[in-house]
Formats: sequence, C-alpha cells, structure tokens
Amino acid sequence: MSSAPLFLALAFPFLLPPAPVINAANVGQHPPLTNADAYSQITTTDKIVALTLDDGPSRKYTPLALKTAKDEHIPLTFFLIGQEAVRRPDLVLEELAAGHVIGNHTWHHPLKDVGDERGAWEVHQTQLVLMGITGQRPTLFRPPGGQLNTGTAAAARANGLKIITWNVWPGDTNGRLSAAALTKSVLAHVRPGSIILLHDGGANRGNSMAALPMIVKALKAQGYTFLTVPDLLGRDKGGKGKGTAPAPGAGAASEQGSPTPEAPATPVQPPTVPSPAPLPHGVPAPVHPSVTLPRLP
Ligand SMILES: [Zn+2]
Repeated sequence: MSSAPLFLALAFPFLLPPAPVINAANVGQHPPLTNADAYSQITTTDKIVALTLDDGPSRKYTPLALKTAKDEHIPLTFFLIGQEAVRRPDLVLEELAAGHVIGNHTWHHPLKDVGDERGAWEVHQTQLVLMGITGQRPTLFRPPGGQLNTGTAAAARANGLKIITWNVWPGDTNGRLSAAALTKSVLAHVRPGSIILLHDGGANRGNSMAALPMIVKALKAQGYTFLTVPDLLGRDKGGKGKGTAPAPGAGAASEQGSPTPEAPATPVQPPTVPSPAPLPHGVPAPVHPSVTLPRLP
C-alpha cells in the first residue's frame, strides 16, 4: 500500500469501502454515461460563455486566477480535486466568497480503471470535504479527463450531480504551449454558449494563468459576457447543450475518453443529499472560518 491510501485508511477508516476493487471489472453497476448525459456547451446565440478551471486549488496558481477574475469582474467555475481542497480550504472559501462556483472533480483524479466502488468513493469523499469546508453541497461534477464511461461519472450522476465537460480546451496541460498560443486556440474555437476549460492546478500552470487575462480581454472585446456554469445552463435555449462532441481544441478528443454510444438513455436519479457531516477526523478545519459565504446562485 502506498503512502496516500495508507494515510486515507488511517484518517478516514469509516469512509473507505470494504476492500475497494480498483479495476474496470466492476463497471456496470450503473448504466454508463454518454455525451448525451453531459453538458459541453449550451444552445444560444447570445455571446455568453463560462470559464472553468480544473485541478486546483493551488497555492501558486489559484490566487492568480482569483486576481484576474477580480480585475476583470468575471465569475469563474472551479472544479476542485478533493485532496487538494482539504489541504487549502482557505482558497476554497476565497473562491466562494468572491462569488465563484465550485464543483467536484474527484478526490485523486483517477484517469483509468475506475470501477463503481472506487468511483463512488472518489465522488462521495470529495462531496463530504467540500461540504465540510463550505457548508454547501456542490451540484456540479467534472469527470477527470472528460471520461464518461467510468465509475466516477456514474456515481456523480447517481447522486444527482450535473456532469459538465467542455467544448473549448486549448491543451494547456501541455506546459510548453505559450500563453499567446493558448489564447489563440481558445479564440479560434469559442462560440456563443461555450464552456471553456483551463487548469489552475495539477502541474506548472504559469502559461495558463498568463493566458487567462488575455483570453478574457479578447473575448470581452468581441462582446462576450462571462457566466458561472449554473448561470450559463440557465440560459440554455434548447437541447441543454448535450450530445455535442466536446473540444475542438488541441488534444481534446483524446481527453474525452470513450463514451458508450449504444448505452440507453437513463433518466437522472433524484439527488441523494448527504447529511452535512462534520469534517472527518484528521481533516484540518478551515483556516479562515470568519469568511462570510455568499449563497450559490
Ligand atoms: Zn482534471
């Protein structure tokens, strides 16, 4: 057992499922998701978009994103990794206090061989910790890598979370792409109703954070307005933005994973609202508990 699972087993023994099976063999307890189950954009002719940032919070990069958002007066949607959020709860609270929206991006960011049990653990553990930090239940989920045919996406849907992918991603996980190149790629692919993906954590995101104000200023000059993901979904003019292959941006197709087109459409289950549990033993309390939290839109 490596150190991370050992730590988790010691810190959260009551949350760990018995002998989790971490392979693809137990996928299938829930019907697999398809592109039709996820929002990659909305249908609209209005020049509105949502900017989403994945894999944070990061002590180094998230404050840069928050500064750009403050300077430009725009809202962002952050998809947080649970094990990063629990280390930096102050940044989670800063995101909410500034009016941004946070969503669930799993605990460990697993990219392959995620069965139903592991997927449920990843989603539930992250929900518990984000609720412990914020007092609010996240309603959005972004599957790591945009993969829909995994236990994580299935568990998120079973818990009533909206599955959010994207239709514009400039490939910023390739740290060698300059801020100018990232900006150019976003501008080439954006359209009314787009959900744009960048990263504020996970690795060196200096170019992503340098590109962020360039992207925002350029889109503003084109007449675009920025919304949170929930607000963008509220402006959908039909089709709910579902069913469109995401990401004309570089490398996006491979990030999308392998949906299962033959899977039958399944209605979204009513949400299972976890009880607002206290922070698990061993989880640090928020370091800025005095921050007054706004209500999520
Ligand atoms: Zn990610």
